[in-house]
Amino acid sequence: MSTATVSLCVILIEVTEESQLLPSVQYLAPKYRGNMADNGSGKPKELQFAGGDKSKTRGLRKPYNLTVETFTSTETTATTTTGDKKSGGVDNPSKSSSSGQPSDVSDSEGAGETKKVTFLSGNPFVEVTKGVLHLYKENERTPMDKLDVGRSEMLLMLAVPASTSCRDLLQFVAPFQADIEHIKIIRDSIPNQYMVLIKLKSQRQADTFYQTLNGTTFNSFEEDLCNLAYVARVETMKETENVGLPLVGHTELPTCPVCLERMDESVDGVLTILCNHSFHSLCLSKWSDARCPVCRFVQTPELVVGNQCSECKSSESLWICLICGHIGCGRYVHGHAYKHFCETSHCYAIQPDNNRVWDYVGDNFVHRLLQNKDGKLVEVSGRGAPRPEDAGKTETEDKLDSIQLEFTYMLTTQLESQRYYFEEKLASQVREMNRDVEKLQIRLEENDKYKTETDIRLKGLTKEKVNLEKKIAQLTQKLTKATTDLNDEKEVNKHMKKDHDKWVALVAKLEKEHEQYVAEKTAEIVDLKESLRDVMFFMEAGKLVGGSELRDEITEGQVVVGPSAADNAAAASTSKKEQRRKKR
Ligand SMILES: [Zn+2]
Ligand SMILES: [Zn+2]
Ligand SMILES: [Zn+2]
Ligand SMILES: [Zn+2]
Repeated sequence: MSTATVSLCVILIEVTEESQLLPSVQYLAPKYRGNMADNGSGKPKELQFAGGDKSKTRGLRKPYNLTVETFTSTETTATTTTGDKKSGGVDNPSKSSSSGQPSDVSDSEGAGETKKVTFLSGNPFVEVTKGVLHLYKENERTPMDKLDVGRSEMLLMLAVPASTSCRDLLQFVAPFQADIEHIKIIRDSIPNQYMVLIKLKSQRQADTFYQTLNGTTFNSFEEDLCNLAYVARVETMKETENVGLPLVGHTELPTCPVCLERMDESVDGVLTILCNHSFHSLCLSKWSDARCPVCRFVQTPELVVGNQCSECKSSESLWICLICGHIGCGRYVHGHAYKHFCETSHCYAIQPDNNRVWDYVGDNFVHRLLQNKDGKLVEVSGRGAPRPEDAGKTETEDKLDSIQLEFTYMLTTQLESQRYYFEEKLASQVREMNRDVEKLQIRLEENDKYKTETDIRLKGLTKEKVNLEKKIAQLTQKLTKATTDLNDEKEVNKHMKKDHDKWVALVAKLEKEHEQYVAEKTAEIVDLKESLRDVMFFMEAGKLVGGSELRDEITEGQVVVGPSAADNAAAASTSKKEQRRKKR
């Protein structure tokens, strides 16, 4: 079962912080040791991790217990006695470590009685750790035919069923006992399978081992096949931020055998066929793996109901990452499955409803098993064992049939997804339209309400306006009246002012007249007073004259009055008196 080229595998055991590394498991193929010499550094070429998000790359995978049992060749001959074999076992310091020893060990010891397995130490050296095992294939393929190219002296036997015991296994490889340096059995928590690392002494011996045993059954009554792959390197590393991220130049593969079988077209060169029977339900239940998130998802339909895209919670068109179990939606929803590939380089995803596996790097479907219309799984590429009903058909017919089926299937799924897509689009448009109509209705109602309110307000305002107009009319009337009154008053005022001037002139005239009058009267009074004095004087004089003997004389006498009677009255009177006295 040799192919022209093979892909070499890389095994990376990423152990948890508190668990121990397994330095004894580490391995580097000779051609890489050569590279190490080329680049001149003392250390082997490091694995190159690409960037990425650790939690996304880890996905749903949880660390689990890993047990490694090492069977080392003791270089003893086939004639070695049982006692010698046991002493070799005592020399092995690991004998005290008996934890995790499988029950098969006693079988191998029992088998020690036969000559076939005496080259292996009786008790395996057992190491236990906890972590996640990553399986990668190199993207660059290595030619099979040239010896000088150098592949690897280490071979990986993948997915050995638990029904094949240690004893069975040792018997299976017994013909090559002289070529084997050591055998390491790696068990994880999957109960029904394990993997085996076989280190051979030279490249040529490894090639012979590979070509002889790859694709053969472990024994005549089991149909499970031995699947071999060349191992480029085995690393154990503590889990850190970048350990476990995508490896540059490598493609990560699922470690679950069921998932591996689902995509065996794509792992051509790593694995040829995992099992030679079709992917029927019996086989699935046999491989049933409670730990693999993908198998759990695909095999338990009741779980599928509640499943959804881990990013957008969509439950339509889901794809599950075969490497880490991430669930994402398809390209017609939000494309989160593709986004997961971009972030983690996990390039295989399975459609749970029909088990079709998509390869994002190859951009095609990679499975050879399809679900037909009846819901049964059928093989399409014809690379597995021929089905009994197809026995009569020629290979070409078979091929044509499978191609036809493949294309019909592809067309159907594409049309289906298109239908989903357009139905979804239509539905969303209807939803949008309904929303718009609702919005418009609400707006209409609002407008109606607003209009009613406005009408009421308008009515009120109109009433107010009428009232105001009435008031304005009244006020205008009042104003007119007041203006008329004012004019009248002004007229009256004008007349009164005119009268006032007249009166003022009159008063002035009267005052003048009055003054004149007063002056006249005063003068009159003065005259009258003079006259009155004269009269009084005369009367007194008459009285005096009448009484005196000299009355005749006096009567004959003359009275001379001074020129200024007023001023010289006193003097005159005095002089008169003197005159009278003289006369006497
Ligand atoms: Zn199978
Ligand atoms: Zn699986
Ligand atoms: Zn999504
Ligand atoms: Zn993933």
